[in-house]
Amino acid sequence: VTFLKGKSVAVMGLGKSGTATARALLAGGAMLRAWDDDAATRSSAAASGIPVVDPLQNGHVAADLVVWSPGIPHTHPKPHPLAQAARAAGIPVVCDVALLARARPDARFVAVSGTNGKSTTTTLLAHLLAQSGRPTAAGGNLGTAALDLADLPEGGSIVLELSSYQLELSDGLGLKAAALLNITPDHLGRHGGMEGYIAAKRKLFDYLVPGGTAVVAVDDEPCRAIADELAGRGMRVVRISVLAALAQGVSAPDGVLLDNGVPVADLRRFPRLPGRHNWQNVCAAYAVARAEGVSPDAAIAALATYPGLAHRQELVAELNDVAWINDSKATNADATEKALVCHESIHWIVGGRPKEGGIDALAPYFPRIAHAYLIGESTEAFVRTLAGKVPYTCCGELGAAVELAWRQAKAGSVVLLSPACASWDQFKSFEHRGDVFREMVMALTGERAT
Ligand code: ADP
Repeated sequence: VTFLKGKSVAVMGLGKSGTATARALLAGGAMLRAWDDDAATRSSAAASGIPVVDPLQNGHVAADLVVWSPGIPHTHPKPHPLAQAARAAGIPVVCDVALLARARPDARFVAVSGTNGKSTTTTLLAHLLAQSGRPTAAGGNLGTAALDLADLPEGGSIVLELSSYQLELSDGLGLKAAALLNITPDHLGRHGGMEGYIAAKRKLFDYLVPGGTAVVAVDDEPCRAIADELAGRGMRVVRISVLAALAQGVSAPDGVLLDNGVPVADLRRFPRLPGRHNWQNVCAAYAVARAEGVSPDAAIAALATYPGLAHRQELVAELNDVAWINDSKATNADATEKALVCHESIHWIVGGRPKEGGIDALAPYFPRIAHAYLIGESTEAFVRTLAGKVPYTCCGELGAAVELAWRQAKAGSVVLLSPACASWDQFKSFEHRGDVFREMVMALTGERAT
């Protein structure tokens, strides 16, 4: 990132993306002041050679540009002094995505946002573009820090997963196409309520280049209103739906993908993309890929080879005709519902640190549960929900649950880890929980499968 050579730049937030940004800027010759509100984070950054200096000096921002880590609140619930001072002085406050856009003006940027399904759609879209033969990188909110995508070959495509936080801070980004999947209540505290959250998501389309394509799901009210508003202003809008067949746009109400109403693929054939929620992700990725010039045939061929993401209904193994599925990313009942709806005869490993409402909302799916294996802090509460409705065993730990499920699950059933809870009581993260599950299942494969 050499376009900021000699410029004075402040980096706020020294987590994963902030540290990556600081390193890229240092390597590019910027004069850096890096900061974090947490003293321990500052010390470890300083120990790794990053110049840690408070960019706010006597109420003034000592920088021409502030690169803000999207994870740090800057407006709500209360304005952050550094962001406030920078804005008052007319100093731009942007996130790393905006820097990437300036570092790679040659790249074709496309982006995905929404409350749910961002990572799946982003990786699926990147797969469709890559399979059609163009150099492609995917990142943003996804895990790879934006500036680590800067080595993509000339003229390649960059698929960005953008959270509402990044959308507030991406001035200068120019998107050829962008897809908005859905808007449901989430992160409201940081956006000052539902209206602020909708406005942050709506901002995705402010970043479209003239003539760019807006792909918008029309299955919830806020998104539908956005689609109508954009179309009313004469923008190119492609609507998508998994609830209704659309004569114009991309839809899949019954699992058959319809391109302007014409059936082009049966999505129920793709085991890595199970369930209606994934059909929505497919509609979005397909619509953006088409807007980017990928042919229908190439896009559909690529759907069949999408490897899927770990921890999201990931098929870990099939042992004696029993499917073992890792859905550790399901940290609330809403996400678990997406998995329960896909299966029958479910051996359900559930529990952890419970969310408000627990698993009460999942009662309509209880007839699909052959047996529940309760783990973690939620056990007592979930016993109260399940008692008399679903056979269950209190297993305490994941290992005991896997062991018992292995003995009980009959051919044709599935063992599903979909905890509907946070992982913090027994694991470092949902990824850690899913990895431990996968290892346990692999151990079964090695030693005992017949
Ligand atoms: P995100 O990146 O937005 O968190 P992911 O693609 O990682 O989304 O999916 C997370 C979980 O959200 C999935 O395991 C699934 O339960 C649910 N999900 C995925 N896609 C959708 C969708 N289009 N609509 C609603 N829920 C979804």
